[in-house]
Amino acid sequence: MTDFTYSVDADGVATLTWDVPGKSMNVMSREGFAQVSEMVDTALADDAVKGIVITSGKETFAGGMDLNVLAKIREEAGENPAQALFDFTMSGHHILRKLERAGMDPKTLKGGKPVACALPGTSAGIGTEIALACHRRFMADSPKAKIGLPEILVGLFPGGGGTTRYSRMVGAMAAAPVLLEGKMLDPKKAKGAGLIDEVVAPGELLAKAKEWVLSAADADIVKPWDQKGFKMPGGAPYHPAGFMTFVGANAMVHGKTQGVYPAAKALLAAVYEGAMVDFDTALRIEARWFTKVLMNPSSSAMIRSLFLNKEALEKGANRPDVPDQRVKKVGVLGAGMMGAGIAYVSANAGIEVVLIDAAQEAAERGKAHSADLLDKGMKRGKVTAEKKEEVLARITATTDYAALTGCDLIVEAVFEDMKVKAGVTAKAEAVIPEGAIFATNTSTLPISDLAKASKRPEQFIGIHFFSPVDKMMLVEIIKGKETGPVAVAKALDFVRQIRKTPIVVNDARFFYANRCIIPYINEGIRMVAEGVEPALIEHAATLLGFPLGPLQLVDETSIDLGVKIAKATKAAMGDAYPDGAVDKILFAMADQGRLGRKAKAGFYAYDEKGGRLGLWDGLGAAWPVAADQPELTGVQHRLMMAQVLEAVRALEDGVLEDIREGDVGAILGWGFAPWSGGPFSWLDIIGAERAVAICDGLEEAHGARFAAPKLLRNMAKAGETFYGRFGSGARAA
Ligand code: NAD
Repeated sequence: MTDFTYSVDADGVATLTWDVPGKSMNVMSREGFAQVSEMVDTALADDAVKGIVITSGKETFAGGMDLNVLAKIREEAGENPAQALFDFTMSGHHILRKLERAGMDPKTLKGGKPVACALPGTSAGIGTEIALACHRRFMADSPKAKIGLPEILVGLFPGGGGTTRYSRMVGAMAAAPVLLEGKMLDPKKAKGAGLIDEVVAPGELLAKAKEWVLSAADADIVKPWDQKGFKMPGGAPYHPAGFMTFVGANAMVHGKTQGVYPAAKALLAAVYEGAMVDFDTALRIEARWFTKVLMNPSSSAMIRSLFLNKEALEKGANRPDVPDQRVKKVGVLGAGMMGAGIAYVSANAGIEVVLIDAAQEAAERGKAHSADLLDKGMKRGKVTAEKKEEVLARITATTDYAALTGCDLIVEAVFEDMKVKAGVTAKAEAVIPEGAIFATNTSTLPISDLAKASKRPEQFIGIHFFSPVDKMMLVEIIKGKETGPVAVAKALDFVRQIRKTPIVVNDARFFYANRCIIPYINEGIRMVAEGVEPALIEHAATLLGFPLGPLQLVDETSIDLGVKIAKATKAAMGDAYPDGAVDKILFAMADQGRLGRKAKAGFYAYDEKGGRLGLWDGLGAAWPVAADQPELTGVQHRLMMAQVLEAVRALEDGVLEDIREGDVGAILGWGFAPWSGGPFSWLDIIGAERAVAICDGLEEAHGARFAAPKLLRNMAKAGETFYGRFGSGARAA
């Protein structure tokens, strides 16, 4: 069985149909490329063939390159992986260039065979790059179809000619949303953006493509860049308009990426340098930059975490082997901020929802949150009126626990209070079926303690969402001491239904994500107490690729929540509590009513509408800035290690069982520098030995919280890496 099949019809149109056996979506492999090459040769050499149509045997066209292939090439290349990657990339260019020139005479540009691409549905990455090499692109008008080049989102850029072709088709500025932001467009928008030429009814797709192939003239199949006097749309770099574009683009990319994403810079360089030379040289330049990006450890770490491992976790890499546990009816207890969000994402995924609160009005308000979100979706043209009706009809807002009859899953999101939670657990368990699973969304209370209120602790589990529920992609599943495999499978199947990414961790204070975020925030506040310039703290974080500095983050999550957590932690830890210096500032801010963004006052100052104006100038008066300021790198090491060491300790303690979950969870849960691939990938990039040296320096200067964990020290001695030691597919502990 092959990935592509070849057939020629009575009219002389050769059809290459992409249909990778055993996969729901086509992905490009080395073998696939070789088949395309051979089939194109055959079609061009056969006088009976008048033209070519490339299409797919599936509902979609392609998901992109099989990213495992790139990893394999690098692994198998021995001494010179860069050469192997470059050669592979260039061989792809040759195949697509052959398709594009289609046998025409290079001088007269006559005699080529027209090539059309017929896209039945979604196309990404190399799929779109193949389409761009064709002479005309037809896409079926299917509501779910999207087309684009999203490589940048996993730390790459379109390196199969997409960067060079698309920027030459529409100009650098117009190409930016597709190339630099990885935007996927629906067929109509894609036509507007020049990615495709015609949107046709699905039933007419092949007929239209063939019709065009049979009627196309010589001039219709010569690409602008193969014609004399080609000029880059929007201007090449030394054209006045082009000059403006490139200067602006450079600044914009740097502003957005802080210079930490190698792919964005490389993409821009490939477009800039490519725009000044002929097309074939530009492809060569693109291949060189692409190779450079592939050789950068950041790209492999991003591909591993954001693509391969994220997908593996979503597909149930750590799911116990028990039968399908998909949820049919979920009961959500507490219709506040979290409960309302959980109800929405569940109903949106087709699950029947019973949303309970203490008062009918509160339950209704919770349901209204779904209506608000659906209205917003309608305004953006993403949701139809029928869909809104349908989703809302699935949510029953009530105070009556009897409505929970028949629920196979409960998610509790009432006040963060042991007694209140125990009360609703008993009330719900009195009505739900024997086999139902009870989950709590607590963020701070131990699952094993909450399970004591349950009659069936092996069916009791933590399902911890992040706020806002509809936007945040991570869900932390927490096993209590007695939680059984069916409960874990249920939680995982539920998370899969609502299309989020799960990690499964063991029960310990703050579980995984909050355990790492809190020290990050605290280190930032501690530095304010020491007299470090607050702007230095915030910029040190954003320059590392964190979406928010620690002071902005605590403003967003709210300072009173910080106070609450600090008090509870202190009560639990007693004398061992390490954060007294942090609390002084936190409590003082809370006393002054500076509770963060929601109070329009916090570490930052805000305008009337809650827009951030800048760091609060009263900070310096209360906590004077020292005359001697630390080096930027020193501040960055503190902020980074505060989180990373906590992740390592979570692994050491057995809270984390799989480093893949530690990395994916960090990026999706709190935006941990995505370019690094996550805390464990970052440690592998800098090496355990260097990490220990940084820790030793920080421990000496700032105290025991930076002491290198034993695991890290041992790994440094043994010259090990996390992914080497714990294996990308193996469980860690
Ligand atoms: P919230 O105060 O917005 O909502 C709690 C809701 O529970 C309220 O509507 C309240 O009326 C209702 N409630 C209280 N007692 C009840 C009872 N006996 N029966 C029925 N309903 C009752 O709180 P929230 O922010 O939605 O948090 C809920 C839970 O989620 C807490 O355990 C919290 O720790 C956890 N959590 C919160 C966040 C966050 O960012 N806010 C994130 C993750 C987890």
